[in-house]
Amino acid sequence: MPRTLDAETRRALAERVRYCHELGIYDFYRREPTSVVTDPTLSPAIQSELREEMSPRKAAAVRVVEEDRILEIVSPKPEYGVGDPVAALKLIREDLGDCTRCKLHKQGRKQIVFGVGNPRAELMFVGEGPGADEDAQGEPFVGRAGQLLNNMIKAMGLRREDVYIANVVKCRPPGNRTPEPDECETCSPFLMRQIAVIKPKVVVALGATAAKNLLAMNSSLGELRGRFYDFKPAGVRSSDPSWPGARLAVTYHPAYLLRDPRQKGETWKDLQMVMKYLGIEPPKKAAEVVG
Ligand code: SF4
Repeated sequence: MPRTLDAETRRALAERVRYCHELGIYDFYRREPTSVVTDPTLSPAIQSELREEMSPRKAAAVRVVEEDRILEIVSPKPEYGVGDPVAALKLIREDLGDCTRCKLHKQGRKQIVFGVGNPRAELMFVGEGPGADEDAQGEPFVGRAGQLLNNMIKAMGLRREDVYIANVVKCRPPGNRTPEPDECETCSPFLMRQIAVIKPKVVVALGATAAKNLLAMNSSLGELRGRFYDFKPAGVRSSDPSWPGARLAVTYHPAYLLRDPRQKGETWKDLQMVMKYLGIEPPKKAAEVVG
């Protein structure tokens, strides 16, 4: 907390925090502006152009206001100091409990869909929220879209159990609607904690909702694709101070690809960018697997 806060601001801040606690909101954090990582093989002129292109967009979209800065209170989390990611994820799940923090808890969810996969994964996929199949089975990406995601992972030369898969919100929005901003804001701190524990090298945001929430940017999916972003989960710290954060890439949500298969080729380009960074050689005929 800044030392320059005067008494009146402190009082207002305390009242605001108390009010948030009454609403069940305990974590406050400020999202750092996201920096775009350009391909070092591009010419300096193109890199500079890309950065300039991002600046006004970031200025308009990043949800950082002065009022939020004074609310940057990062409370200790149960998993802090726990080196074993399996144990740390268990602590986060226990902390989540039978969550009623946002209105999705009373809109027909059968269960909380926490996340699944390798707790030490180098690659994480983050979607929007559980659908009907996920809600029924308690696991993300298990329906038709999940099958396509499995194919994408296989095309990369990996297995589903090699990666970690989670969503921005952990309860199914009714009728599979897009999760609302307040629901994402309330639930995403738990995702941030999962990412901080897993410490992946790359996070792939599947679809616009995941991308916008992870990057705190309001650009279209088309604008966000095709490059890496430096990413550190907001408001939490990793158990490993040497973890530099992840690179984040954006691609289409598999459910969207089921509706518009023409974008599979573009998705494969995004995944190839990720594979190149991770040093993964795709198996032969990989693009056909995606298709
Ligand atoms: S979506 Fe997240 S914050 Fe909302 S009730 Fe479910 S677990 Fe809790």
